[in-house]
Amino acid sequence: MQFAFDPPQPVSVPVAGGDQRFPVHRVYCVAKNYAAHAREMGEDPERVPPAFFLKPADTVVAAAGDVAYPPATANLHHEVELVAALGAGGSNVDVCNARDMIFGYAVGIDLTRRDLQQEARAVGGPWDTGKSFEQAAPISHLCPIERTGYLESGRIWLEVNGGIRQDGDISAMIWNTAEVISRLSGLFELKPGDLIFTGTPEGVGAIVPGDHLRGGIDGVAEFSLHIRG
Ligand code: MN
Repeated sequence: MQFAFDPPQPVSVPVAGGDQRFPVHRVYCVAKNYAAHAREMGEDPERVPPAFFLKPADTVVAAAGDVAYPPATANLHHEVELVAALGAGGSNVDVCNARDMIFGYAVGIDLTRRDLQQEARAVGGPWDTGKSFEQAAPISHLCPIERTGYLESGRIWLEVNGGIRQDGDISAMIWNTAEVISRLSGLFELKPGDLIFTGTPEGVGAIVPGDHLRGGIDGVAEFSLHIRG
């Protein structure tokens, strides 16, 4: 087979404890999976069930070093999230089998051009310009599930310039990771290599060029990055 031009390099994430890399297939995201975050976004979590959206695989970058402040926004928000990485795929997977599909976990940031997202929501349009842009999905290394076990709780936090902004626990998710995988598998054929950003706790807010972000999830990973102007 001859390509018309060089195909893009596969996107991958380093796996802790060796030199393996996890090849990324798709990036699924859950919107409003913590009640307190749904409320801060002006919605009633009892009435608005968590919804799904996707980011292109090539929005994934290391949550380290410099990450670029994107164009066309004046309100870039951080959303720190537990990321589940799938080592197996499937369709219509039961909740009790879903956890067996997890390869490992990472901590990620669902970077969001909030102004563009809100403009889209106001007219009932798609969110893509708010959620999908270059470097929109910084992610730590993956910690294999053999080390973490199936995660049902753990502190998740994010600091900006040393001040705590988000400080929650993944036990507060409306749908836990196995339930998210099961629901997604009824909508999409999941594949090894899929990443799932499972939603953010409350405390989202704006970041600006020059900011320094640190965050983590207990027992999984921590990250440290700088927003480049
Ligand atoms: Mn999010």
